[in-house]
Amino acid sequence: MSLPTSVDVAIVGAGTSGAAAARYFAEQGARVVCVDRRPLAEAGARWVNGITRTAMAEAGIELPASAGFGEPHPFHLVSDAGRVVVRDHDVIDVDMRALVALLQRQAQEAGAVMQGETSVLGRDRDVLITDQGRVRARWIIDASGLAGARLLDQSAVGTAHLCAAAQAVFEVKDNEAARAWFAAADIPPGEVYARLGVAGGFSVLNVRLHDGGHTVGVLTGSIPSLGFPSGKAILDRFVREHAWVGARVFGGQGAIPLRRPYDRLARDNVALLGDAACQVFPAHGSGIGAGIVAARMLASTLGAGGTLRDYEVAWHRRWGGLFAAYDAFRRWNQTMDPVQLGELMAGGVLDPSFARAGMDQTMPRLSLGALPPKARALSKQPGLVPGLARVMAQVGAAHLLSAVYPRSENRRFSAWQLGMARVLAV
Ligand SMILES: Cc1cc2nc3c(=O)[nH]c(=O)nc-3n(C[C@H](O)[C@H](O)[C@H](O)COP(=O)(O)OP(=O)(O)OC[C@H]3O[C@@H](n4cnc5c(N)ncnc54)[C@H](O)[C@@H]3O)c2cc1C
Repeated sequence: MSLPTSVDVAIVGAGTSGAAAARYFAEQGARVVCVDRRPLAEAGARWVNGITRTAMAEAGIELPASAGFGEPHPFHLVSDAGRVVVRDHDVIDVDMRALVALLQRQAQEAGAVMQGETSVLGRDRDVLITDQGRVRARWIIDASGLAGARLLDQSAVGTAHLCAAAQAVFEVKDNEAARAWFAAADIPPGEVYARLGVAGGFSVLNVRLHDGGHTVGVLTGSIPSLGFPSGKAILDRFVREHAWVGARVFGGQGAIPLRRPYDRLARDNVALLGDAACQVFPAHGSGIGAGIVAARMLASTLGAGGTLRDYEVAWHRRWGGLFAAYDAFRRWNQTMDPVQLGELMAGGVLDPSFARAGMDQTMPRLSLGALPPKARALSKQPGLVPGLARVMAQVGAAHLLSAVYPRSENRRFSAWQLGMARVLAV
């Protein structure tokens, strides 16, 4: 199929962010082309991801039952010294193959041209250059992920801010042994075992039985540049050591940017979206909800007659503080050893309401009544105080700065960038 030569919106990447943007723009009547270097059926995430229902609702996406794995299930955050159980959270497991296919189909039905096996090589002003031809576009959206087209010459993400993650679903070949393993960890069937600190402060091994115990999902992540095994190595080891885990059904692995989103989300006629913009919730490397919500914000801003600058201002003012705040927490968290992680949980500093806020991608609310127990917990673990104090100062400063993200690109913007870099260097 040949590409249209001229469109309103040209989108690079047909993963969740790009396909969602294609859908929203096409629904507004724009002429849209969305290309991906992979075949469309292989674009984007190909494993099971946790997404908040709030993000799905905010993005206006209704998931068919076949794409999900039921309602949110209790999460057991386990460390050497204790555990925190989060029962009422908002995160559902989603088969990303189904979500990406749904968004691509909805985009096509709304009139977008979706084309796989088409690599973007660069841009010449308002012309997108691909290996299948050139497309002139009023707006170009780079939703091509972390290792994508880099149409705004985004700076590379430092290795200390890169999580190497893996997720796969396996058959369970010995159901009794699987249930015994969860029982030994004191996890009821279907609930989530999330072992923190398996390979450094920022790392997780997350295991859950699906389909009444016929399959098991294993999710892992770590920061290898800090000297730890990758998520893939952690996952492979878990499978090797547990004979009840059977054949792999589907899954994948990749790198996730954890740094706060780029200061600039747009320039000239190009906007960044999703992982390409580092719009990833840093506490656990979750980019699906952030990407689809940003896609909707971008389409509705331009659809209402706004500019790309309006999009980046609106995004930073609405979300920048939250993402930077959790980036501050993540940077502290990744310096911890298993003992400190355990202290954080066992002493009550990280309690179910804090953990839930992190899972739900919201700021924790600290009631007055919660202050005395937190103060008591900290008095028993004075080693945590300097780190926590630094994070709280960064959280406050990041929120203040994001709320006043400048509208114009003058000296005030340079000062803003310097200020933010002082709070959280990248
Ligand atoms: C193992 C793992 C587990 C994860 N778990 C979660 C989770 O539980 N919850 C969550 O929210 N997030 C999770 N994430 C992160 C999430 O998958 C990403 O944030 C999300 O996929 C980003 O979506 P995106 O559309 O921005 O980019 P991508 O999904 O990376 O899609 C980008 C697309 O652009 C295409 N592309 C790249 N370069 C070009 C080019 N030059 N020309 C044309 N096309 C190009 C690619 O082929 C790709 O299809 C996980 C990530 C991994 C690796």
